[in-house]
Amino acid sequence: MKKLLINAEQIITVDSNGSNFMRGRDMQDIGMLESHAILVEDGKIKDIIPNSIINKIKADQKIDLSGKIILPGLIDCHTHSVFSGSRADEFKMKLSGLTYEEIAKKGGGIAKTVDAVRETSFDELLKLSLNRVRYFIEQGITSLEIKSGYGLSFYDEIKMLQVINSLKSIKIEIIPTFLGAHTFPKEYKNDREKYLQILNDELIPFIIKNKLAVFCDAFLEKTAFNKNEVESVFEHAEKFGLKKRLHADQFNSLGGIGLAIQSNCKSVDHLEVINDIDIENISRSELVAVLLPGVSFTLKYNYAPARKLIEQNAIVSLASDFNPGSSPIANISMIMALAAVNMGMTSEEIISAFTINAAKALDISAVKGSIELNKDADFAIFDCMNYDEIIYTMSKNLNVMTISKGEIIYQNQRIK
Ligand SMILES: [Zn+2]
Repeated sequence: MKKLLINAEQIITVDSNGSNFMRGRDMQDIGMLESHAILVEDGKIKDIIPNSIINKIKADQKIDLSGKIILPGLIDCHTHSVFSGSRADEFKMKLSGLTYEEIAKKGGGIAKTVDAVRETSFDELLKLSLNRVRYFIEQGITSLEIKSGYGLSFYDEIKMLQVINSLKSIKIEIIPTFLGAHTFPKEYKNDREKYLQILNDELIPFIIKNKLAVFCDAFLEKTAFNKNEVESVFEHAEKFGLKKRLHADQFNSLGGIGLAIQSNCKSVDHLEVINDIDIENISRSELVAVLLPGVSFTLKYNYAPARKLIEQNAIVSLASDFNPGSSPIANISMIMALAAVNMGMTSEEIISAFTINAAKALDISAVKGSIELNKDADFAIFDCMNYDEIIYTMSKNLNVMTISKGEIIYQNQRIK
C-alpha cells in the first residue's frame, strides 16, 4: 500500500545524512523542506518528492496536510510511566523548602511509589499505564522508553516489566528498561549485598531469558547505588546482553560520566551537576547526554548545562522523565518550553533532541528519529505553519495526527 503525504507547509526531516545523530552545533540544522511530499510504502519512507513531479506518483491514498507541518515521530527516551499512587503531598513539602534527599529520608520519594506499586495488581497497573501511553501518542510520540524500578523485588520488578511489555499492544515502539538498581528497597537497606545478588543472579538472567527488557539502567547517587554497586550490575547486564544507560550527576558528581563511557552506556541522563571535565569527556564520546528539565522545574533545582554541552559538541537529547515524584509532567510541549526558557536551547536543537538524538539514546536511530529514506514512516503532524509554534505555545498540544509505521494511529482527538 502506497500513501502520499501532500500539501504540508513544512517537512522537518532532521536529516542526519546517514550518521543517525546530531552533535553540538549540527543540532541546529533540522533540514526544513517546503513544497515536498512524502511517499510511504509498507510502513517505510520510500521517497521525498518535490511538488513539481508529484502528479507522476501513483498512490493508493493521499493524505492532505494543508496548513500543517510534518515532523519525525517524537521520541521520549526516559520515562517512568508505569506507577500507581500520587505524590502530591511531597510536591507541597518541596515547595515548603524540603530537599529531595530530605523527603527520601522521611520515607517519601521513590520508596512511597514502591509501596503503592507493590499493592497494585498487574491489571490495574496496565490500565493506568495505557492511559498514560495514549496521552503520549496524542502528542505525536511514536517511540517511548519506560523503566521498571518501583517494584524492587523479584516479583514486582517482573510485574512492572510485564506491564511495560503488554503496552506493546499499542501501535508505537515501546522500549522496556530494567531499573532494579533505582534504589535499595527498605527490606535490604542493611543488606545491600543481598539485594545486589537478587538483581545480578536472579532478575537479570530471568529478564534475558524472557526477553523482558532491552536496557539495564541504574541510579548512581548518594541515596541510591554507589559506583562499585553500579559496576557490578553493569557487569552482569553486559554478560547477559542488556544494553546500558545511567542516571548520574543529578545531585552529586560521583564519577558517573567516566563509568558510563567505560561501560559502553548508550546514554547518561540528568547531568544537573556535571563538571567541565566531564562535559569535555562526554563531548568526545558517542554517549548521549539526556537532559530532563521537567525535574529541575519541579524540584526548583539546577538545570543541566545544555548550552555548554552543545557548544562542546556533545550529542544532546531531552526527555520528560515522567514520574510521580520529581517530574509529574508528561506534556512534551511544556518540557520543550522549559528547555527553551531555562536552558537556552533553540527550537531547532529541541527538535533534534526529541527526535534523532532521542533515537540514538535508545539505539534505534538506524530506523527511527528522522525523515530519511527507508526509515520507519513515523510522523507527528502539527497544526501550525512553522515549527517554532510547537515550542512557543507552551503546553498546548498542536499535534493533530500521529502516524506510526505508515499507519494513522491518532487523528481528530481520537486514538485508533
Ligand atoms: Zn529517571
